[in-house]
Amino acid sequence: MGEDGVKNEAMEIMGLFQLLPRLVVFDLDYTLWPFYCECRSKREMPKMYPQAKGILYALKDKGVDVAIASRSPTPDIANTFLDKLGIKSMFVAKEIFSSWTHKTDHFQRINRRTGVPYTEMLFFDDENRNIDAVSKMGVTSILVRKGVNLGALRQGLSNFSQKNSPLDRNKQRWDYFSQKSSSSETEDSDQK
Ligand SMILES: [Mg+2]
Repeated sequence: MGEDGVKNEAMEIMGLFQLLPRLVVFDLDYTLWPFYCECRSKREMPKMYPQAKGILYALKDKGVDVAIASRSPTPDIANTFLDKLGIKSMFVAKEIFSSWTHKTDHFQRINRRTGVPYTEMLFFDDENRNIDAVSKMGVTSILVRKGVNLGALRQGLSNFSQKNSPLDRNKQRWDYFSQKSSSSETEDSDQK
């Protein structure tokens, strides 16, 4: 399937869901492209996973913003590759830096930069520890095995819409208010 075919199919998949994320965040190495960019030279011409570009274009067309969260120690190589691929300007945020946390600080920065709440984000990554840490923040997070593809997109959108269904929304609101009231109780007892 060519790039346009993937894009059209991704558009169709998105059409199946009433509720779409506001922001989709991608890891780079082994999610958008099949290598660690730190092991490559800037002079090379990188190749993405076959369905990655079509998916990015479809999200853009649907008005869904895209961002990057990468722990690559070579942001200069990563940025050069994004530029060579002609996709660098697509991203509303590019957080590319090595870190001891499993991308929680990347997402804090993305949240500050874009103002999009964690619950309205969808994230794709190939490492379990990142998926675990980021999903605890409230982001719908999908583990990819051979890079991002249409199957992962469908899975992600389905998980996202289930998590944000009206019933669950009420539950989230309830959790939020019960947390709030318990924290104000603690504040009260602190004052006494
Ligand atoms: Mg990776």
